[in-house]
Amino acid sequence: MGGEMRRQEILRLLRQRGGLAVRELCDYFQVSRMTIHRDLRQLERNRLVARIHGGLVSAGQFVGESRCACQRALLPHQQSRLLLPSGEVHFCCCSCAFQHLAERSPKLLWVSDFMTGQTLLATDAYYLMNSMAIPCCQPSILSFAEEGDVLNFRSGFGGAIGQLEEALGFLRLEQTLKQD
Ligand SMILES: [Zn+2]
Ligand SMILES: [Zn+2]
Repeated sequence: MGGEMRRQEILRLLRQRGGLAVRELCDYFQVSRMTIHRDLRQLERNRLVARIHGGLVSAGQFVGESRCACQRALLPHQQSRLLLPSGEVHFCCCSCAFQHLAERSPKLLWVSDFMTGQTLLATDAYYLMNSMAIPCCQPSILSFAEEGDVLNFRSGFGGAIGQLEEALGFLRLEQTLKQD
């Protein structure tokens, strides 16, 4: 199979499955990691795929819906994605995505670094909850790749810092308070 055909096939697989490991692509095409990395670099340049931690590849930001279920626009530096058996679902921010977690039970969950827009696994991120910065949905939860960034942000905007467990706990508490 030629390079161009392989890259088209990679995009087709990503659209179908949402996310893939580099290893899976090597097995599927029976080619070296170097060949796959070269393909991915090319697709990345055209923003058709995004590479994330752990050798995982995901469909690029222009593949899939351009609006969240709540109708807000998807902005790279705050969007979040869930990988479901049916494919990938994009959300405007992690606050919105986390509110849909219970009903969807995704296989993988990604958030974006608020500083750079880089995608990272939700379990690797630091979250700033309930700060004065509310760029998207309420309650405000911002996600960061670097601990230094979340600390800097808190010194300007207040709020509490935590990891995924704390962010989900915070959201549950907020929802309970809203219902009372
Ligand atoms: Zn939303
Ligand atoms: Zn939002």
